[in-house]
Amino acid sequence: MELDLREELAGFMAAREAELIAFRRDLHAHPETGYREYRTTSQVRQRLVAAGLRPLTLPKGTGLVVDVGNGPGGPGGPADGPVVALRADLDALPMPDEKNVPYRSTIPNACHACGHDVHTTVLLGAGLFLAELAAAGGLPGRVRLIFQPAEEVPGGALDVMAAGRIASVERIFALHCDPSLDVGKVGTRTGPITGACDKIRVRVSGLGGHTARPHLTADLVYALGKIVTELPAALSRRVDPRSSLSLVWGEVSAGLAPNAIPEEGFAAGTVRCLDEQVWHQAPGLLEDLVGSVASAYGVIAEVEYTRGVPPAVNEPASTTIVEAAAAQVLGPEALSTAPQSLGAEDFAWYLESVPGSLARLGTRTPGPGGGYDLHQATFDVDERAIGVGVRLMAATALAALRAGEASASERLADVVGA
Ligand SMILES: [Zn+2]
Ligand SMILES: [Zn+2]
Repeated sequence: MELDLREELAGFMAAREAELIAFRRDLHAHPETGYREYRTTSQVRQRLVAAGLRPLTLPKGTGLVVDVGNGPGGPGGPADGPVVALRADLDALPMPDEKNVPYRSTIPNACHACGHDVHTTVLLGAGLFLAELAAAGGLPGRVRLIFQPAEEVPGGALDVMAAGRIASVERIFALHCDPSLDVGKVGTRTGPITGACDKIRVRVSGLGGHTARPHLTADLVYALGKIVTELPAALSRRVDPRSSLSLVWGEVSAGLAPNAIPEEGFAAGTVRCLDEQVWHQAPGLLEDLVGSVASAYGVIAEVEYTRGVPPAVNEPASTTIVEAAAAQVLGPEALSTAPQSLGAEDFAWYLESVPGSLARLGTRTPGPGGGYDLHQATFDVDERAIGVGVRLMAATALAALRAGEASASERLADVVGA
């Protein structure tokens, strides 16, 4: 069986690789930004329907979800077996495409510079393979394919969750292109793999006046400067440095004249963090710190803290499943440890309620050169990564279904034994 899967996937990719690459190039040439993925949704829908599947579009009109297989008993059987979800994101970035390739973006100021066209194609390929397997009676459960909109906005993950589409999911998996990793390789990691990204905005106010008499005013610009410089330093003393909680200011403003102390000032920045617990404490902690610095200088500070994406924390057992699947269909030499990134990924929202794992998919052509990075206007991938991704996602779903079955029969044995 183990060897069979590797061969079956090789056969499937030999037959479908050219078609999948063409599919990716079509998406790449027609990128759509968050919540505008109508064409992309329709392209995916057509392929799924042609394979006999029944996708459901999400309430906002872009993105779709479809179940492959009916659980134990095959088609028409009871739909109460384990459900494992695989997720891809559909959206592009609002930036120009500066590549010189035949499949370059045809849409002004829209570009698949984060590889979501690859993720979508990989999930479609894995879904089509699993659908063939289900039709032949070889799928031991249900696999839910989630083609979510608006990862970059972010928030598409929350729409999928609000629509109740992960309520019965036992485990969830996704992958993301990694241009620093050679094609053929897969990066995995247990624990936090991507960071949280929140926004903080501080408004300080106080009595203004002449710069000749700061003692009669709240020396607001000085106080704002203290907040801006002392906060990042104080944070590093108040939380475990391993949480990588970091505050970086991007915007500071106050005053209009060199000899007048203003009555208000602003500072705004981002707060990034790799530790979920510390992330939950961050708003209160920052508010306390701002308050204590502000009161020392007699100014009033208001903090506006906007929550973004949480850290993506990979569950150990799910990560083991991805690693076992990769070793089975790609070979153990394909595996590497993914570094942590402070970039945010909205897959993190699913991981707050469902165990799962996000893996890195190598997209770099081996050898010198090819220095692409995500979110760059020249970003491109080695398209052999599509076949690697299809193999990995399909094998991961199967391994997770078997792990679900095994733990269910263990639970049953416990109940019967008791
Ligand atoms: Zn991105
Ligand atoms: Zn991305």
